[in-house]
Amino acid sequence: MKCHGCGVEIQTVDPQKPGFLPEHVFEKFLSNEEEALCQRCFKLKHYGELMPMKIDINFLSELKKIIKNFDTVLWVIDIIDFEGTYDKQILELVKDKNVFLIINKVDLLPKSVAFAELKDWVLERVKNDLNIKKDNIRLISAKKNFGINRLMKILKGQNINKAIVVGTTNVGKSSLLNTITNVKITTSSFPGTTLGVVRRKIPDYGIELYDTPGIETNNRFTDFFDIYTQVEMIPKRTISRKTFKPDVGKVIFISSLFRFKILSPAHDDLKPIFLIFAPENISFHQTKEERVEDLLQNRIGEVLYPPYEKNYPLDIEYEKEIVMIEENEELALPGLGWISVRRGPLNIEVVKPKNIEMVIRKPLI
Ligand code: GDP
Repeated sequence: MKCHGCGVEIQTVDPQKPGFLPEHVFEKFLSNEEEALCQRCFKLKHYGELMPMKIDINFLSELKKIIKNFDTVLWVIDIIDFEGTYDKQILELVKDKNVFLIINKVDLLPKSVAFAELKDWVLERVKNDLNIKKDNIRLISAKKNFGINRLMKILKGQNINKAIVVGTTNVGKSSLLNTITNVKITTSSFPGTTLGVVRRKIPDYGIELYDTPGIETNNRFTDFFDIYTQVEMIPKRTISRKTFKPDVGKVIFISSLFRFKILSPAHDDLKPIFLIFAPENISFHQTKEERVEDLLQNRIGEVLYPPYEKNYPLDIEYEKEIVMIEENEELALPGLGWISVRRGPLNIEVVKPKNIEMVIRKPLI
């Protein structure tokens, strides 16, 4: 079978060579008798010309060099995955600049969220890392074209005529630039670099924005999945919320990669309450402890998802961790969602992939 994007013969062996497709994805195409798209063409289709690249020393040093030419940085963050996209390596590179935190995808939050409070929440969350003015925290929706004119006016008001745009993959950087420029753009490459920085002039505002490739992370739950699954995990609707009041001995799964149980409820008479938030394509499932093994053996891709298929190749090392959560705190799971706790403090035991750092924070909603 040939890729219908580039015409190269599909192969499932070497991700570095043309025509690569993960085997399980290839099988899906075969069984549905659909035309296949190789991984490279799929990335091109979804990310435009700029392919996401692994964050490595080279990339960081390139960005470090380039960033010297800029005083102003627009750092795009996904509010639904704040912890996964507020990336420490990006922070290191930008913290001494005039940073604008562009908090994207606010259209996916429940209508009850007050934007003024949300801004305060962001400010509180970042204030120890960044010396940022409240006005430089911009809540936007690239998709719904919300907050973008205001952003451009504020840039102009601060006499900014050029800025570099950075962010991890899937935060909506391309969507933002496309909305800003309304496709009335002139682009050119930034000279003398290997980074693929693209200049976009915005004539209406007299501002030049420099786009950079999305940075791939390796510490989000999403990073265990191939790019096809990652795209399915991107929320398209208002974030889902579900309330659980589990008894001791119950286990709650969020997707197939994360589960937790209560160790010690604080109040004997009152059951703790958990509000779980995650994109619509991520499962929440409560079960009895003795059912856990069976679910993991037989129901991944069905009751526990992502992944969205049975027999998906998962080769993950897990670890247990005990976490103490106070009343009205929440536990954020990068790339997956967050768990808000009522009636704490309490200890929970979580099982999660190694390398994934969870964050305890003030509640977002
Ligand atoms: P990039 O990798 O940072 O360039 O991100 P993209 O612009 O390709 O967007 C990644 C995904 O997020 C796409 O599925 C977009 O449709 C979606 N997206 C981007 N901005 C928004 C937004 O403001 N709201 C919502 N709901 N989705 C968005």
